[in-house]
Amino acid sequence: MKALDTAQLQALDREHHLHPFTDFKQLGEEGTRVIERAEGIYLWDSNGNKMLDAMAGLWCVNIGYGRKELAEVAYEQMQQLPFYNAFFKTTHPPAIDLAKLISEVTPAHMNHVFFCGSGSEANDTVFRMVRRYWDLKGKPNKKTFISRINAYHGSTVAGASLGGMGYMHEQGDLPIPGIVHIAQPYWFKEGGDLSPEEFGIKAAQALEEKILELGEDSVAAFIAEPIQGAGGVIVPPETYWPEIKRILDKYDILLVVDEVICGFGRTGHWFGSDYYGLKPDLMPIAKGLSSGYLPIGGVVVGERVAETLIEEGGDFNHGYTYSGHPVSAAVAAANIRILRDEGIVDRVREETGPYLQKRWRELADHPLVGEVRGVGLVGALELTNDKAARTRFDDKGSTGTLCRDFCFNNGLVMRATGDTMIISPPLVITKEEIDELVEKARYCLDLTAKELG
Ligand code: PLP
Repeated sequence: MKALDTAQLQALDREHHLHPFTDFKQLGEEGTRVIERAEGIYLWDSNGNKMLDAMAGLWCVNIGYGRKELAEVAYEQMQQLPFYNAFFKTTHPPAIDLAKLISEVTPAHMNHVFFCGSGSEANDTVFRMVRRYWDLKGKPNKKTFISRINAYHGSTVAGASLGGMGYMHEQGDLPIPGIVHIAQPYWFKEGGDLSPEEFGIKAAQALEEKILELGEDSVAAFIAEPIQGAGGVIVPPETYWPEIKRILDKYDILLVVDEVICGFGRTGHWFGSDYYGLKPDLMPIAKGLSSGYLPIGGVVVGERVAETLIEEGGDFNHGYTYSGHPVSAAVAAANIRILRDEGIVDRVREETGPYLQKRWRELADHPLVGEVRGVGLVGALELTNDKAARTRFDDKGSTGTLCRDFCFNNGLVMRATGDTMIISPPLVITKEEIDELVEKARYCLDLTAKELG
């Protein structure tokens, strides 16, 4: 396509392109911003504006933009073997290499991976694999998944059903049968007069109540993100996960930890499960697996499920054309080696994560900010009109959108979920860049406060 100017690109986009999670008509009226290139942690739009990408694309560009090694690996792999499947007793070196590498960085009891193309497909795979497991165990009634309100597990039918987003369930009669949702550990919004610690226990006990209500014999699995990402970077109170672990140990129910956001270094550990000391049976992965350079996802499978599927399973009638795609697999393997060999995950744990959390928490003194939270290189700010009462603005989301737009127009990509501002920058961000991020965020909070009057 010959070089077009911004207006021409916007016009063509409006005429032909339906965007994800978008009001098509409204976008057509407002117009899109065209992102043209990126380097490190920065983006440039078609008008030459430079922006600090504090969202790492969509929580995924962990190694930062512009790593030419990945382009070279893709180029070479495309010439060597651009595609082959893994269906009919065939395999290829990139999928083998990636599967082995994944087993080296995931928890010790997890040594197998089923590949797919995205986080949503990973959760569709989880849905089928868990039910297959219980069928093989002679417990076909164990079918129900317990998830959480406001969880995000993808946008396919099973993914959106496993997720707990009401506005997604409203479209298309979701959730599908066999998926129920319990309360989330969101202290700022739902903690009331309880301390965060008390509330963490209470939120976890909702799991036990639901298991008892449904009957242990009908519950297949509990699925959760270590830290809810899209829901608003909800870092559970410290008491939450230990209590969930206690409950899961008591009942014969699988634990699915959705690592699509927390995986590959976001918390300063390889996986959110490492950070919280969890022992998942299954871990859906995507995003940071390839740092978003090419689409790929997977389900990492722990011993218990893998052994049953392998030893007793026969055919598992599930898979995708692009399961273990050779080019995506080669790029993902190169990405994991960069994260590991350059000590990027270690640096997040020891240096940049603690530094971001320290600087980010300074924003707590801002009049609009009711709570600051985060772990490693992920964080959130709760915007409020009354810090002590933790009350929200009447017009939910409008303050967040206002702040997000100020950020966009002042060189910072920060996301708004309702009135919760979110960051998840590339893991290669430096201390100086963290200073820039926090200063820009404060400036945009000031602009927002001023606009509100
Ligand atoms: N699971 C979690 C926790 C996610 O955050 C996402 C995407 O944001 C998904 C699953 C779905 O991944 P994808 O968009 O690659 O289908």
